[in-house]
Amino acid sequence: MKYSPVQNYINGIFVDASSARKLPVISPIDGNHLSDVPMSTGKDLDDAVKAAKASFTAWSKMPIKERVQVFFRYKTLLEKNLKELAELCSEENGKTYSESVAEIEKCIELTEFATSLPQLVTGEILEVSKGVECRTEHVPLGVVASIVPFNFPAMVPNWTIPNAIALGNCMILKPSEKVPLCSARLAQLLKEAGLPDGVFNIVNGDSEIVTAICDHPGIEAVSFVGSTKVAKIVYQRATQNFKRALALGGAKNHLMVLPDAKPDMTAQNVAASMSGCAGQRCMAASAMVAVGEVDHIINKICDEAKKIIPGENLGAVISKESKERIEGYITEAEKQGAKILVDGRNAKVKGKENGTYVGPTVIDYVKPDMAVAKEEIFGPVISIMRTKTVDEALAIENSNPYGNAASVFTQNGGMARYIIDKASAGMIGVNVGVPVPREPFSFGGWNESKFGVGDITGKSSIEFWTKLKKSTTKWNPEAGVNWMS
Ligand code: NAD
Repeated sequence: MKYSPVQNYINGIFVDASSARKLPVISPIDGNHLSDVPMSTGKDLDDAVKAAKASFTAWSKMPIKERVQVFFRYKTLLEKNLKELAELCSEENGKTYSESVAEIEKCIELTEFATSLPQLVTGEILEVSKGVECRTEHVPLGVVASIVPFNFPAMVPNWTIPNAIALGNCMILKPSEKVPLCSARLAQLLKEAGLPDGVFNIVNGDSEIVTAICDHPGIEAVSFVGSTKVAKIVYQRATQNFKRALALGGAKNHLMVLPDAKPDMTAQNVAASMSGCAGQRCMAASAMVAVGEVDHIINKICDEAKKIIPGENLGAVISKESKERIEGYITEAEKQGAKILVDGRNAKVKGKENGTYVGPTVIDYVKPDMAVAKEEIFGPVISIMRTKTVDEALAIENSNPYGNAASVFTQNGGMARYIIDKASAGMIGVNVGVPVPREPFSFGGWNESKFGVGDITGKSSIEFWTKLKKSTTKWNPEAGVNWMS
């Protein structure tokens, strides 16, 4: 085992979980046993909630301009430790080093946004009638929880940590049991940045601890990022317990390619979108609708895909089970009559025989009712469907239950606007394969890709992590009494 066993982080110190139950943390790159992660119990969660509650009064009463000073220092520490964090991220998740560098750079951007929060939460004040003022303030909720997936071990925790904490909350983070190492390192950096003990805590575990979070009376709000199946469970359970909840789920993102699209730019964007992070991105292109005659672009997409080499510029998928599931989808599509233009099955990387790699895969002549057309594959695979018209393409996109992202590739602005209007997804790209809104814009899908109101990052997250206090005040007796005040 390369690293010592993972511990929980409660009240500023790393502690053992109360249960001996544990799971191995395996590097997808080469199958190396990196560490063991404990499966915590309700008692561990209770300890973390107690610590967070005890810290809440002092932290929430500190002026926000002082609270964000921690995040100015945290940003500098992320920059200083970028290389080491990126290496750890690659090791536990399997993505390439350059993808991990981009992930940490995104953590820095997320933290930068949090440092700007004092500018955004000034509240409002207005004299509503003579001598009477109404004022709004953003008040933190208390102890909040953030449950995160495996595919971005550093970025998704940082979707919630800086904003929720800068806004005055205390947090319990539940990392993915597959990638708990980056989270532990983030806890150390937050401490080094001067975050008071107890404000940020980590409780490791699996579904048992997620259920305990949803049920715990001391937790006010739960944010979740992961698959739609679990997002539904978490959203339902947390809200049933009268908690505020925001649960982001899976995706099946459609790219619509029109005949007038710029061939090289389109091919490069499509190939990068379907294969980046080995296709394990909720914003990855997973289905492409080829509208009309675009064979020349499909040929170029195949050429681009062939330049993507497992173990070089393509990382591993998270586990053996994942590799088998992805390859199963490809085989099933082939059996049903789809044509495999580029086949990533049975990928091997010399010297990393225990790594779990799937090569880039392009499947053409997919029918809309095939599993590869409808379901989230979460691997470097793109399923191409053919239509004659844009409206047929939109009908395919609209009928999918997810709604994270959709993109169109065209040079026709009017057509792009038409697709922006008609696509049923929260984040739309025009000639962009991965249309992630950058800060201060917020991130969040529609339909079965997100349950709850508002988005998880950017300005929209302020509403989720705070409640509004409205005060009406009158200090001059001459104001008298009118019908409202
Ligand atoms: P997952 O749903 O399996 O796990 C997410 C979290 O839930 C983990 O912390 C895990 O321990 C916990 N969990 C797993 N099963 C559970 C259960 N039955 N009950 C309670 N908790 C449970 O997701 P994953 O495999 O880690 O991540 C991949 C998924 O996340 C993909 O579907 C991807 O699209 C999605 N994702 C979505 C977004 C988004 O913004 N919409 C972002 C990143 C990832």
